[in-house]
Amino acid sequence: MKFLNWGLRLAKLLLGGAVLAGSADRGACADYFTDNGFGNPLSTIHHPSGEHYKGSTYIAYQGPHEDAYVCAYNHATKKWTGPLLAGINPMGKTPDPVDNSELDNHGKPAMMVDRNGFIHLAFGAHGGNPMLGRNAFGTSAGFGHGGKLTHIVSSHPEDISSWRILENISPFGTYPQFVQMDDGDIYLFYRHGTHQSDWVYQKSSDDGLTFSRPVSVLKHKLQAKGTLHDAWYAWFAKGLGDTITTSYIYHPCSYPGHTKDRLNVYYMKMNGADDSWENAAGEKLTIPVTREYADRKSLIFDSGKDRCNHGTCHVDQEGNPHVMFRHGAGQVRYTRWTGSSWTQPIAVIPGEGAGQDGDMIVESTADVRMLLLNSGNNRNEVAWWRTSDGGRTWGKEKSIFSKPGGGCEMGALIENFTTDAMVVFSEGRVPGHLYRKMVLLGKEGPVQRPDAEVSHVQKQLDVLKESGAKPAPKEDRAAKKARKKADDE
Ligand code: ZN
Repeated sequence: MKFLNWGLRLAKLLLGGAVLAGSADRGACADYFTDNGFGNPLSTIHHPSGEHYKGSTYIAYQGPHEDAYVCAYNHATKKWTGPLLAGINPMGKTPDPVDNSELDNHGKPAMMVDRNGFIHLAFGAHGGNPMLGRNAFGTSAGFGHGGKLTHIVSSHPEDISSWRILENISPFGTYPQFVQMDDGDIYLFYRHGTHQSDWVYQKSSDDGLTFSRPVSVLKHKLQAKGTLHDAWYAWFAKGLGDTITTSYIYHPCSYPGHTKDRLNVYYMKMNGADDSWENAAGEKLTIPVTREYADRKSLIFDSGKDRCNHGTCHVDQEGNPHVMFRHGAGQVRYTRWTGSSWTQPIAVIPGEGAGQDGDMIVESTADVRMLLLNSGNNRNEVAWWRTSDGGRTWGKEKSIFSKPGGGCEMGALIENFTTDAMVVFSEGRVPGHLYRKMVLLGKEGPVQRPDAEVSHVQKQLDVLKESGAKPAPKEDRAAKKARKKADDE
């Protein structure tokens, strides 16, 4: 332990020295790139939230008014651009609320850069509303949260300064996720409404100018008997070659109403050549997948009555999937497909049970690293964890961010990341408002930005001060939170 601490201190000294030397002409530097993250600015299920393209890393997140903001970091010059307002979220409120329960927080952006360098965002919805038409993939209970799934594209390649709206996707989406294939085909996956809706994709073969009609992948439905309503949370990503993987969990909702229950873990794979699906064993699947069918064909882990939440999925050199998910109060667990079965899920951080999230890099079947946020025990730590024996045992490698408090939130790994800019996360909130510092983390720690460039919320803070807005008393907040829990997601 002592060695580890000394190692860390040494690394910090060296890193600090390098940063000072590199930025002597730019004054003091901060370890965050803006302070205008807002509410819950990003999550692993709205992804990618950033992408590296030709020497720059582009980042999208939820800023003031729950709008979509974008920053860019040039790796050669170490210069930042932004934040720039890219798109207005119809669910945003004015002035900015000071209680998180007043926010919807589902409209944050997913981002991708197409093969010509144009930057695309999808954002702004939590299922849409009846004014936008009939939702063919969701129940009427799926209405009411509002917004409109919006697709915008940068006016020029590699340039975040101006944007245009493309009216070419369904307005009813939630949790947008872009997957771009090697041949340039773009799949936009999302849940087609609120919780009682199908998960679908729309496909584009012309760099996002037009999209196919939605195709349903996971089916929501009221069970034949009783009041349980089958629903899902899913995570999609590129697999080996021309394939897309998804790992997903089951949400036994109720109708009418809503539950917070989330159970089990599932996996399946799409073949880009013919858009057919198969399970881990290679058996062809018919979509959309129902609960009963998924239990028979694509189940990884039966969690019984224990809560399970989605994580991420990546493949090894043979295309075999490695899946991480969150168990119970948020303990990250790992399993992989051996070629014939799933390994017994194992807790990556031993003895810790809550507030974990992150993503992983599969170097090979045996060698996997996870970049994990651990926000349990009233502190935030982001650290590298590693297995060298195919996931049987995990060890902590290195801590790259640590602060007391809690409430940090982390996105999935940046698409095509370079090791100096791998993932974005938001620091915990400070009392009095909902703005947060946004941090870009490389392998060794935060990417720096000159102090003089990182403050962007003074205008909003002045408005709040003028309006006299104060967070509601604690007991009101608790009641509001409970009410929100009852009808959200
Ligand atoms: Zn529900």
